[in-house]
Amino acid sequence: MTTLSLKSTPEDIARAGEILSRGGLVGIPTETVYGLAADAFNGSAVARIFAAKGRPMDNPLIVHIADFDDIERFKPVREIPEAARKLAEAFWPGALTIIMKKSDRIPDEVSAGLDTVAIRFPSHPVAREIIRASGTLLAAPSANRSGSPSPTTAEHVHADMDGRIDAVLDGGACDVGVESTVITVADGVPRVLRPGGVTVEQLREVLGEVEVDDAVLHKLAEGQTAASPGMKYKHYAPKAHVVLLKCGDEAYIDYINAHAKDCAAALCCDEDLLLLNVPCYSLGSRGDWSAQAHRLFDSLRRLDENGVTGTVYARLPKTDGVGLAVYNRLIRAAGFEVIELEEV
Ligand code: AMP
Ligand code: MG
Repeated sequence: MTTLSLKSTPEDIARAGEILSRGGLVGIPTETVYGLAADAFNGSAVARIFAAKGRPMDNPLIVHIADFDDIERFKPVREIPEAARKLAEAFWPGALTIIMKKSDRIPDEVSAGLDTVAIRFPSHPVAREIIRASGTLLAAPSANRSGSPSPTTAEHVHADMDGRIDAVLDGGACDVGVESTVITVADGVPRVLRPGGVTVEQLREVLGEVEVDDAVLHKLAEGQTAASPGMKYKHYAPKAHVVLLKCGDEAYIDYINAHAKDCAAALCCDEDLLLLNVPCYSLGSRGDWSAQAHRLFDSLRRLDENGVTGTVYARLPKTDGVGLAVYNRLIRAAGFEVIELEEV
């Protein structure tokens, strides 16, 4: 299969919509990461997403809408709980995915057999135009091969998916750079299953009580079930051996320079660049978690592009604000390997 390269022109957006309405697969830009989209109501089209990504069939997909009213129009959910309405008002369109009880219209391929479905209303104008042009709702996971870092440019999608999908529509680099925050309001106290650009603190301001699922911060124990099936898989891993250092700024620099012989590269901050004696990949300024989230996946991909396979040291991020999203991705890229140098 030849993968078409489409641009954000009205003609190409219409073409993407037509491919999707006929059951094809298109890589699409969103404000978080690139998605691999198919018609959410076409089970066999959705099944092809899993084949193209090599994604385990028990990991459900997010359904994307182009307007809040699409929920009434296409009825993907049984009802809209009050908490979901409040969240939608505060954060949609944007980087928040809300899990609700699914309707019978959602095929099992999308929900992976669960009785819930994840819904997101992206703010990216091109994403919304493509959804509208398709005349349906779009199921879309991140457009990477399963296990690899999520794609934040059309080139990343081509690198992973050429020959496996119908088209990639280039809408430029993604703003947020990490995937959406996922929260379930399907039953009980609302619970964050995956941290992202919308922070736990912001969610608590709107809903009051919000829990954070165990799997966000910790490795699941053998046999423990994941509320969000995606959390149990090895994720975001480059070929290099990523190790996180739990320590302050000075100890981080000293440790890496003392181990420079065995260190292939450092994932660091702008302020470290002149202080480290190893190849550096800066994520952004210290404490600027949004900048670091934005550059994280691109940096992990560049390690692979540059053939880095040895040990790569990174700081263990803080777990407040957008730091939690960076922590959650980096600790998976590191396979939960942390060296504790000092309390921070
Ligand atoms: P991705 O599409 O690659 O961004 O991954 C979507 C994430 O949302 C994965 O971690 C899924 O496991 C999670 N997810 C999607 N739908 C559901 C659902 N109905 N219940 C729980 N988690 C979900
Ligand atoms: Mg993904």
